[in-house]
Amino acid sequence: MKLLILGGTGEARDLAKELVARGEHVVSSLAGRVARPKLPDGEVRVGGFGGPEGLARWLTENDVDAVIDATHPFAERIGANAAEAARATGTPLLRLARPGWTEQPGDSWHWADDLGHAARLLPVLGERVFLTSGRQGLAVFAGLDLWFLIRCVDPPEAPLPRHHEVLLDRGPYTVDGERALMERHGVEVLVTKDSGGAMTAAKLTAARGLGLPVVVVRRPQRPETASVTTVQDAVRWIGAQEKGSPA
Ligand code: NAP
Repeated sequence: MKLLILGGTGEARDLAKELVARGEHVVSSLAGRVARPKLPDGEVRVGGFGGPEGLARWLTENDVDAVIDATHPFAERIGANAAEAARATGTPLLRLARPGWTEQPGDSWHWADDLGHAARLLPVLGERVFLTSGRQGLAVFAGLDLWFLIRCVDPPEAPLPRHHEVLLDRGPYTVDGERALMERHGVEVLVTKDSGGAMTAAKLTAARGLGLPVVVVRRPQRPETASVTTVQDAVRWIGAQEKGSPA
């Protein structure tokens, strides 16, 4: 089997590692947004395909047997492109995505439909904001007269809020480290996407311990397709494709 993994996540790297160890021919695809990405095992290609048509062409030209869309829950466009290209070429498609986070006792979460909604919620929740939603789309916060600690992997895209400090970091993070960071900066409210997973969950535990409100941005809708939440289930689905009995 020749497999294309649409990546850029820890799950995508874990899946590539598992499949390469099993002797599958794996090509992982990265968007090329991060300056020094963590590279998965196996073959890697970098950069966009040129929309759904470009991806469909790539699947045909490279004789791909199945596609696993393991991109981040908030990478909306590539998910739609994968569904369209898979349909057009008749290539089996699996979505691999970790589950979202769940509110725990002691949490004070405010759900937002998107970053713009998150920005509208902020002024009544606190004046010192810890913004952890990534480097893209921060323009919606630019007009707010609040202070922001902006943490992302690579420098954030302008325009940015007038009062801010940028912290370049990529995790994983510890609860003690997150608590100390929030205390040091006098953080009053945290903003996060509902990314899920253990790698960045420590900020939620720290916010709970400090009694801070959290604005959680809901995941966008993805196209209907076969989907799993774990690498092991993805491996099983691929095994079923190999035997010619699609899951
Ligand atoms: P996006 O808005 O869904 O995609 C924009 C365009 O980037 C796509 O149309 C595609 O270009 C290209 N692209 C995206 N992922 C690609 C991949 N894995 N391989 C090749 N091309 C890809 O994506 P995004 O939100 O900018 O995220 C970009 C990448 O970063 C994703 O791979 C995602 O897994 C990772 N990431 C995203 C977030 C987030 O919060 N959005 C967080 C962590 C990691 P063409 O149309 O030219 O093919």
